Amino acid sequence: MLSNDPPVHFARVREILQGATFEPRPNSRASSILRALFTGETDTEISPRGFVVRFAGGGTIPYVSEAAPATIHALLARAQICPQGQALAFRLEDEDSYALAGLPDAARWVWVMPGEDVVLVSLRRPTSAGPPPAEPPPLPLPSKLKKLYAHLAQPLACPHCARASSVYRATQETWVCGGPRCGQSFSPPHRVRALAELRDDAGGTVRETTARAKIYR
Ligand SMILES: [Zn+2]
Repeated sequence: MLSNDPPVHFARVREILQGATFEPRPNSRASSILRALFTGETDTEISPRGFVVRFAGGGTIPYVSEAAPATIHALLARAQICPQGQALAFRLEDEDSYALAGLPDAARWVWVMPGEDVVLVSLRRPTSAGPPPAEPPPLPLPSKLKKLYAHLAQPLACPHCARASSVYRATQETWVCGGPRCGQSFSPPHRVRALAELRDDAGGTVRETTARAKIYR
């Protein structure tokens, strides 16, 4: 992460999501971030440690957090939402994404999940008419060839056998318990999945997360 990235921008994002007013000014960085967000399907992590956009297929781009408040405000204003700190799920139509990002045919379901330590923003192509489901479907995994493992900052209990582990084998839809008498799969909560670091079976990091960066700092 950017070591001189002041956490004040994260605090501002949190205030906006609590309903604080924000005076938008033209912000070229926010415009380029919005274009990146709407390019495909994305998971974004905003935290005191930085602003990271992850793309389907494995690409990751860090941005300076300075543009995070303007980016969040633009999404909410376009959807005409006045937040009060709750998790948000809404739909932006083609004309909205065109106005925000200048991209045609880019209607998206949008989820904004506030948290004390991290705010998650997910964009997915709508798969049906109407509003999005409560949680976004998982972002496609970076590699179909490799065995991937999700490494967690906090151990998670398997819902089948209750064995707590900080490593699970990750497939596109589910995680697989490594318990010797279990081996069953389950769908982890979106927040846990989005904050997991992915490594392949050779130990190489396939997808980083700012949650891990905090632990090792
Ligand atoms: Zn288990």
